[in-house]
Amino acid sequence: SAYLDRIALHKHLNAFIHLYAEEALHRARAIDARIQRERTLKRLTGVVFGIKDVIAYAHHPLTAASRMLKDFRSVYSATAVERLLQEEAIIIGSLNCDEFAMGSSTENSWFGPTLHPLNPDYVPGGSSGGSAAAVSADLCMLALGSDTGGSVRQPADFCGIIGLKPTYGRISRHGLIAYASSFDQIGIFGKDIADVATTLEVIAGPDEFDSTASPLPVESYQPVNNPEPPSMKLAYMKEALDHPSLDREMKSNIEKLIDWLIQKGHIVDAVHFNYLDVIAPAYYVLTTAEASANLARYDGVRYGYRASTEEGASLDICYQKTRSEGFGKEVKRRILLGTYVLSEGYYDAYYTKAQQVRRLVAEEAYRILHEYTCLLMPTFPTTAFRLGENMDDPVKMYLGDLYTVFANLAGLPAISIPLFRHSNGLPFGLQLVAGRFQEKKLLETAAYLL
Ligand code: GLN
Repeated sequence: SAYLDRIALHKHLNAFIHLYAEEALHRARAIDARIQRERTLKRLTGVVFGIKDVIAYAHHPLTAASRMLKDFRSVYSATAVERLLQEEAIIIGSLNCDEFAMGSSTENSWFGPTLHPLNPDYVPGGSSGGSAAAVSADLCMLALGSDTGGSVRQPADFCGIIGLKPTYGRISRHGLIAYASSFDQIGIFGKDIADVATTLEVIAGPDEFDSTASPLPVESYQPVNNPEPPSMKLAYMKEALDHPSLDREMKSNIEKLIDWLIQKGHIVDAVHFNYLDVIAPAYYVLTTAEASANLARYDGVRYGYRASTEEGASLDICYQKTRSEGFGKEVKRRILLGTYVLSEGYYDAYYTKAQQVRRLVAEEAYRILHEYTCLLMPTFPTTAFRLGENMDDPVKMYLGDLYTVFANLAGLPAISIPLFRHSNGLPFGLQLVAGRFQEKKLLETAAYLL
């Protein structure tokens, strides 16, 4: 009920799409009664979660922040949600986001934008902006989001909290609405590394419903509390810190941190990465291609919204009208772009080329992370921007993703941790990227820096 009171006080943030207040209180009472009887706790007993509204919770609304699914209810729960519930977590509501997780600001929601928790003139980031705002403002303790190209790390960075995107395949995608299936991964928002680690331990692991979920056993991800760990071997990309889009003050903060690490006896080497300027373009070619296929299922027949058509109108007219009215501008832009790059005559020039870039990026990442424990980099080139500021310039909005899409193209685990405050008053974080399935090292390094 403390969380529900805070939610009521912060209604203006528009962080939640649906609130499950009565049900959450009922569940909390039932859990209390069980504890009285059995005197035992589970791993997440009574922990209050919010879930991004692209993650299914049986018999609850699942909208993807789209008109297309505004009245849709899921008949089953995502594996991640199922596992939270088994450990007695309480799900307090579904969280706002960009429509179908496409965006960087949570301005592309049919339910209106979410506002930045520290300054309502600014965006909270996206696409999981509702999740980041809710955790930041203590409207829930932890939240799930999804990260296809940065949608957990970037809003965490903007809102001054922790955002973890695990290795591709670490958490089952069963019950996560697909945007770009070979990139999508459920991620975790929190304020404390140990909480994030516990949540990962609960929801990670193999799943018979997702063949891309890795069979590797789940380890303990709890970072050991070691204030002076043995010398670490870290790296940063020279091109990332020298990039002209990076805010100067943010750059100098990260450089100071690197100097401090070196003084402490750690190795922090500059490495070269030659593809920085092509990774966001490659990401947008590949993800829009996958999105154009994944979103074909919203046709007005099988799911959700159906436009009203005149008597006798053809099926094609019904599809057209439904998709024209049901999808927002950004989703349509991406379906068109994705269809274009997959079309005959353009496929090799765009799609095949972008696949080649993806391969090169993965190889480079492997080479670097074979030698170093983690890569350090910014999460985003600027702090949170103003509402509306980037809405007329989608390419500018896309290019801001240059630091986050690296981990998704290569399938690597990455985390944004809140370390800094800009002179403009807004927080920003540092991003760490580790090798495949090196979540333990990633969280340990994060815990040391926090
Ligand atoms: N900003 C990126 C995009 O718009 C990331 C989205 C995501 O990770 N879901 O595609």
